[in-house]
Amino acid sequence: MSLTKHIFVTGGVTSSLGKGIIASSLGKLLKERGFKVTIQKFDPYLNVDPGTLNPYEHGECYVTEDGAETDLDLGHYERFLDVPTTQTNNVTTGRIYKTVIEKERKGDYLGQTVQVIPHVTNEIKRRMLLLGNTGEFDIVITELGGTVGDIESLPYIEAVRQLKWQLGSVNCIVIHLTLIPYLNAAKELKTKPTQHSVKELSRSGVQPDILVCRTEHALSHEIRNKIALFCNVDKDSVVQARDASSIYQVPLNLLAERFDLAVLSKLRLNPQKEPRMDRWKEFLEKLENPLHKVKIGLVGKYVELADAYKSIQEAFVHAGVCHSCHVEVESIHSEYLKAENVEEKLGHLHGVLVAPGFGSRGVEGKISAIKYVREQKIPFLGICLGMQCAVIEFARNVLGWSQANSIEMDPKTSHPVISLMEDQKSITAMGATMRLGAYTCKLKQGSQAEDIYQRQEISERHRHRFEFDDNFLPDFEAAGFMAIGRDSKSNLVEMINLPSHDFFIGVQFHPELKSTVLNPHPLFIALVAASMNFKSPATTEIVEKNA
Ligand code: GLN
Repeated sequence: MSLTKHIFVTGGVTSSLGKGIIASSLGKLLKERGFKVTIQKFDPYLNVDPGTLNPYEHGECYVTEDGAETDLDLGHYERFLDVPTTQTNNVTTGRIYKTVIEKERKGDYLGQTVQVIPHVTNEIKRRMLLLGNTGEFDIVITELGGTVGDIESLPYIEAVRQLKWQLGSVNCIVIHLTLIPYLNAAKELKTKPTQHSVKELSRSGVQPDILVCRTEHALSHEIRNKIALFCNVDKDSVVQARDASSIYQVPLNLLAERFDLAVLSKLRLNPQKEPRMDRWKEFLEKLENPLHKVKIGLVGKYVELADAYKSIQEAFVHAGVCHSCHVEVESIHSEYLKAENVEEKLGHLHGVLVAPGFGSRGVEGKISAIKYVREQKIPFLGICLGMQCAVIEFARNVLGWSQANSIEMDPKTSHPVISLMEDQKSITAMGATMRLGAYTCKLKQGSQAEDIYQRQEISERHRHRFEFDDNFLPDFEAAGFMAIGRDSKSNLVEMINLPSHDFFIGVQFHPELKSTVLNPHPLFIALVAASMNFKSPATTEIVEKNA
């Protein structure tokens, strides 16, 4: 059995309590205490991965270096820990069942009746231990998606129960996240939902070791004692997680609660060092006290759901802090944008980011937005489909090819400036078949890309099927459009630029996926800088201190 310690994070009472942020914050603190930590997420739905999920369902699909299409919580793990995650860090019930059924078809079960217990639970346990077995980590935190009490969570809870028994209680602990609601009428915090949730977990044979209680108000000693008594945990194991102004405040709040020390003591581990959160604190200090403010438009078709562009939103937070600038991201629905209202919708902005996406809904709105920002020279960053739309816009409005399009939107277009990549042509299945994960890209010497990245070769993550058709490039170049980054091996165009503009860049890859608190992304830093310099009718405001 591996020496790696395992921490499971479950959720009770209600969904959306922020298990991912709690797990990420704990990971950050344990890393700061000197341990090698990783976080994985187990999701109880039947999709094999979130790649086929509409962003309206579960928010954005986060892509790892090795090309896994994963839950957006993995983005939080990377942003907090600065440790890349992999295919192994996100497992769904669909993947578990796929493995079990494939084994059954191969005859691996030798005539047994294949059942949830033990076959599915064994496969869950095998996967829960995989990262620990690599020997790379001292501690593996496993977040269980869903809420205790859900039917689909039962096999996971049973797997945790068995693991706790097999590994021993000092090698495997359970942290349960619950809600302590505040009843305004009674002016009281209520512990009953937490008691019930712990009871529900105990009914499945799992006694939580530590309770993290989400609350709007501070928990008094009396309340902590009451929770400890009725939920059968030590008083030091009742940890409050008060609502915070920023998710990045949470690790510091939990540090003040000695959460990490409570966890280490349960695992019989001694802290290796004092946590050094100086850079983190400096980041928060700047985040909370900005000196400047810019408004950047985020043009996309999923803007109703904040989580659909989570990594982009966070990348703006990180980059803004570099400039002591509050970036107000204004969501603009691409479906309702057209030539007639584009000025009204974008005219007041200091910068515009056109978002990634799939399918034709909202594409014409994105193209209208890009025409406007190109003509007005508003700083522009197009990501993936956003870059492809910039190519289409240029072809139509500068080169005069009025029918130019991506063959994703119009397979019969006269000018297929964006076409299907060669190795995508024979693919029919949708799941995990795109160009995914990290590829290296060579930047053009002397280009703005080289200036921004301060290097000649970069590595960025991808998720797409279509590409710029290089055959059209000479016409584009003749009109002042440049390809400033190309895939190091395939030569695919990865970055485009209008050098006549201060900042007009399109990227086929997803820079937002690599931005972290301590390593903000250079492209976002540069976009925010350009937006701060952009003189529009609504010039960059200076934020009044304490205003
Ligand atoms: N739909 C486009 C493609 O598949 C863009 C994808 C994206 O924006 N992630 O190439």
